[in-house]
Amino acid sequence: MSVSHYPERDPLALTPADCGRGHACQFCPEEGECKLDKGHHEKRLIEARLADIGQIIMVMANKGGVGKSTVSANVAAGLAAQDYHVGVADADIHGPNQSRFFGFVGERVRLSNKGLPPQAFTYKGIKHPVKVGSLAFMMQSDDTPIVWRDAYKHDFMHHLIGSFDWGPLDFLIIDMPPGTGNELITLADMLEGHDVAALLATTPQEVALMDSLKAVRFCQDRKLPIIGVVENMAGVTCPHCRGEFHVFPRSHLAAALSAAGVESLTQIPLSLALSSGSDTGVPVVLSAPKGPEALAFAPAIAACRAHADSVFAEAAAQSLHDLTQAGLDSPELTQALNAVPPKQRKALREQLNTMLGAPAGTDVKPDH
Ligand code: SF4
Repeated sequence: MSVSHYPERDPLALTPADCGRGHACQFCPEEGECKLDKGHHEKRLIEARLADIGQIIMVMANKGGVGKSTVSANVAAGLAAQDYHVGVADADIHGPNQSRFFGFVGERVRLSNKGLPPQAFTYKGIKHPVKVGSLAFMMQSDDTPIVWRDAYKHDFMHHLIGSFDWGPLDFLIIDMPPGTGNELITLADMLEGHDVAALLATTPQEVALMDSLKAVRFCQDRKLPIIGVVENMAGVTCPHCRGEFHVFPRSHLAAALSAAGVESLTQIPLSLALSSGSDTGVPVVLSAPKGPEALAFAPAIAACRAHADSVFAEAAAQSLHDLTQAGLDSPELTQALNAVPPKQRKALREQLNTMLGAPAGTDVKPDH
């Protein structure tokens, strides 16, 4: 049984006044002649996509080369292995590697009226394919360099969320480019008001620690919840003697992060299985689910799930609170109860009466 909170439904529900196309105007064959409000279309398109996405997790690092893409791919795959609907949006314009992590090197996508179809990654044990959207699927070749000014990068961030046909998702994992520049600010602005949280990736070096703290500061300034920090490349196990050693001296990372109010979730070892995972096109949490790397990723995956569960529970409690504030006999509560299958409705009504401390003899009445 799926543990997903998110129901299957029509992924695109644009207003009738809109053209109903699931892609940005920039990709439209009718752009020249179209008289519709294009700004409105793009805004509605992003809103429609986001309305179908539960928890968004931005995997961030202020420094390049710390394994952010590895963390993104394995967290996404780990959540998919737990029956969630998961998407991976590759926002790293200059190094779009998610196509490689999920085995789609050289693949391209074709535009349809529903938008750009993400690639669907399947693997044994995965109930719902991981949907992968990346600039790599739109480039002429994999070695084409991206030489874009900020305005293009800004537009691409909108295409990534709006033009890819994500459909209903429990989690959208965004593999962010390093730094706190244009792409991050654009996405943070676009996603404001939605369930977004940051997962930070770092390595145990002094220089990476300094950069991580900058990322923490960015999140705190933007009131972006931080799920925690994944320490990557944190030790190597010798294949001969099985002894452990550290390539990077473990600085005061955990203490410094804790002082900044951020939890260190796990330490991921530097290993051949992990580095070759990107070349085989299967994240290591799936190819070797009982291996040390997969076990090391488990706390980060669990923390993402726990965060989403707590956000969901909070939203549900708030909805219930709003309903109860409206009164036991309110049309909203009656309507909500009538949406429950009849077999469970009576029991639920009694539970609600008990929870709300309704005087004996009163009841939330069914609307029929
Ligand atoms: S140009 Fe934009 S608004 Fe007009 S039909 Fe195309 S996608 Fe729709």
